[in-house]
Amino acid sequence: MPVNSRFVDELRAIVGSDALVLSPEGRLAYECDMHTLYKGQPDVVVLPSRVDEVQRIVRLCRRERVPIVPRGSGTGLAGGAMAPTGGVMVAMNRMNRVLEIDIPNRCAVVEPGLINLWLTREVAARGYFFAPDPSSQMVSSIGGNVSTNAGGPHCLKYGITTNHVLGLTIVGSSGEPLTLGGKVWDRPGYDLTGVAVGSEGTFGLVTSITVRLTHTPEGVKTILALFATIDAASEAVSAIIAAGIVPAALEMLDDVVIRAIEAGVGAGYPGDAGAVLLIELDGPRAEVEMEAERAVALSRARGALSVRVARDEAERALLWKGRKEAAGAIGRIAPSFLLQDAVVPRSKLPQIMREMQAISARHRVLFANVFHAGDGNLHPLICYDDRDPDELHRAKAANEELLRACIDMGGSVTGEHGVGVDKAQHLGLQYADADLNFMYRLRRVIDPEGLMNPGKLLPSHPACGEGFRARRPVLPEGAWV
Ligand SMILES: Cc1cc2nc3c(=O)[nH]c(=O)nc-3n(C[C@H](O)[C@H](O)[C@H](O)COP(=O)(O)OP(=O)(O)OC[C@H]3O[C@@H](n4cnc5c(N)ncnc54)[C@H](O)[C@@H]3O)c2cc1C
Repeated sequence: MPVNSRFVDELRAIVGSDALVLSPEGRLAYECDMHTLYKGQPDVVVLPSRVDEVQRIVRLCRRERVPIVPRGSGTGLAGGAMAPTGGVMVAMNRMNRVLEIDIPNRCAVVEPGLINLWLTREVAARGYFFAPDPSSQMVSSIGGNVSTNAGGPHCLKYGITTNHVLGLTIVGSSGEPLTLGGKVWDRPGYDLTGVAVGSEGTFGLVTSITVRLTHTPEGVKTILALFATIDAASEAVSAIIAAGIVPAALEMLDDVVIRAIEAGVGAGYPGDAGAVLLIELDGPRAEVEMEAERAVALSRARGALSVRVARDEAERALLWKGRKEAAGAIGRIAPSFLLQDAVVPRSKLPQIMREMQAISARHRVLFANVFHAGDGNLHPLICYDDRDPDELHRAKAANEELLRACIDMGGSVTGEHGVGVDKAQHLGLQYADADLNFMYRLRRVIDPEGLMNPGKLLPSHPACGEGFRARRPVLPEGAWV
């Protein structure tokens, strides 16, 4: 019997047949995340339901030196949850329970496969919510959010995922569960929970998460401000922040995105606007009223053509539906897009938006913009037709130039989507060799064999000669099915 069949038999003995995906067509569904340029099929997908199963899977993979690729909902935009060298993909979707809701301590303990929005639904009636809200929150998993340190529209005020994670259990490459942090906020020693958040599966498989719950604000107001140009809208962003207002969310959409949303979702965004700002304020009702008036006045002073405050919850929900479904709506105007995630200091927004227009013209590719303007986190969708190799080439060149421009302005190559394989090659733009070497060494201490999500997060860096060493199992095609 070939080694591979025995390996699969051992996996089957751990999780049962219905928790294995072996057929080529089944594994095809796992060959990429939402960054569809990067593809790599796992040799087998396994869906554990319990921590002890995760431990046994990891021990088996370690014994056979088989790479492990963790996966949540596969909505990542950096090529993190795909298997560039094959191996075992561990999909955490069946570990999706809320283990504990602890209102007196304002926290909850959840399994990693739990969908982000489900947690808020679970605690809403008690007056709480889970604050990190990536636009994918209807489908992305909390384990994925933790592993990418996800942001979202409301992270401007509430902070990103790491600010809401109190503790984690991780099954590392030894197969032993490691408990980091807990319900108590401040712990002695290194902040290992902080190190593990955003580690993109390279430290191990997150099997439980203790998250902070946030009290639902008393009042909320959502404002739609319409501008003739993206420049004017960028100036309004700076003015609002400079006035000391911290909106819960401050999102910008350009004319291309507005038209796509209106055709697809019909969210009530004015079709003739050059740009719109979606401004949300929340907190004590009286404070929200006052800040909303100031935000409206500041928008008008910066040239807003019209400003509208959502009258009720239904109108507010519709405005957000448009924003959260923007990426999908772009499908109406382009067969494919590269979704960038770079950051600039907020004060550089007008400058980077002008630079983007120049890059777009130089490379003859359409940029569509929908982004978290309040924290300078850009999300240009660089549109192209994947049937035209020249267009793809130009889109990639435009992408590269934009990243460099952001770094030159003091920004970052990624704000919230993570590194995956997509940004790994770009980390050298941002970090010195010494910084990258330190990260390699840390990774090697935690995962000496380099089995956990190989090829992700860090580039193969010539200066240190370290990096990914995992061995791909030699699997004759079809041997396991
Ligand atoms: C329409 C759309 C909108 C989006 N909006 C946002 C946004 O506003 N903000 C934002 O930050 N992102 C956004 N994203 C990107 C994506 O949704 C986030 O990165 C999300 O956190 C990924 O969660 P996931 O469950 O899909 O993880 P996956 O894509 O499955 O995995 C992401 C990474 O985490 C690792 N991983 C997953 N689960 C585990 C685990 N249990 N243990 C260890 N490692 C694990 C994977 O190996 C991979 O490296 C958006 C994506 C889409 C498609």
